[in-house]
Amino acid sequence: MAQVLKASEENLKIAAEVIRKGGLVAFPTETVYGLGGDAFNPDAVARIFEVKERPSFDPIIVHIADFDDIRRLCKKVDERAKILAERFWPGPLTIVLKKSENVPDIVTAGLDTVAVRMPSHPVARKLIGYSKTPIAAPSANLFGRLSPTTAEHVKEQLGDRIDIIIDAGRCEVGVESTVIDLTKEPTILRLGGTPVEEIEKVIGRVKILTRSDKPRSPGQLSKHYSPKTPLRIIRGNVAIGHGEKAGLLAFRRPDDDIAKRFEKIEVLSSSNDLNEALRQAAQNLFSALHRLDKANLDVIYAEQVPEIGLGKAIMDRLRKAEGVE
Ligand code: AMP
Ligand code: MG
Repeated sequence: MAQVLKASEENLKIAAEVIRKGGLVAFPTETVYGLGGDAFNPDAVARIFEVKERPSFDPIIVHIADFDDIRRLCKKVDERAKILAERFWPGPLTIVLKKSENVPDIVTAGLDTVAVRMPSHPVARKLIGYSKTPIAAPSANLFGRLSPTTAEHVKEQLGDRIDIIIDAGRCEVGVESTVIDLTKEPTILRLGGTPVEEIEKVIGRVKILTRSDKPRSPGQLSKHYSPKTPLRIIRGNVAIGHGEKAGLLAFRRPDDDIAKRFEKIEVLSSSNDLNEALRQAAQNLFSALHRLDKANLDVIYAEQVPEIGLGKAIMDRLRKAEGVE
């Protein structure tokens, strides 16, 4: 079973040594917990795929602690990348650029591009710094399942497959990074923790491409981020079947007459301010889904949230959890 370690300097140095020797470490970032290995070590990266049961067509994001590290990963860092990095790094934005030959093909699933992010979480930054190498890290969950926002979530899914989990509490942002491809007309490959509206303020209109038959980003698969319990987005009246045990994922606290129809309710936000409510909802989303998923329900009904700012990423995750084309 994995050792769950507090994020002390000493433990981070131990974890960094594990990374340097080709091992895997689960660690917190501001988005979700990541499963990290040395990005320049193809064997370590192969183990990431194995542990997650991740299909090999699905490339992995490389995490850096210093902007200069990007030069070890990419051929050319164009002006737009510099502008976006200046504005949003460290933070929940992943930038896709042409890769340098140094980056093993297994990291990028054979693509000639590499996805790079500088996380803002101090524990992630220290771990990368002590490891003295960029860290390849997808979310620390089994492929297609709910993303982990606590060390406990990681332990439940991967505890018997990895050696170390660094525990630094819950993740601030709670949804994965926004992925933007800059190798052509700027294109969003995954909606996430950096709102598209904020990106457009800096570089102008961007294309949004989050679904396709040949995904360049697993965020583009139509079923992903899924609980085991079937999830249905509420689009009108809820008709709970006779004897059906239903849970409710509510954006705001529901009235009592609605609440009493459900076996279990998770409320995502408490603020009256919409932006703050969406921030809270993103932060609580996966934890709430993990709890509903463990409650032995027949079905989870999910309320829609307004599709602005972080609301876009939340609705994207709910649609994928529902898994309907
Ligand atoms: P996760 O497994 O949750 O970390 O998701 C990583 C995301 O980054 C996925 O949507 C990947 O497909 C995307 N990604 C990583 N590398 C690339 C790349 N070279 N080109 C396009 N998307 C990428
Ligand atoms: Mg993931």
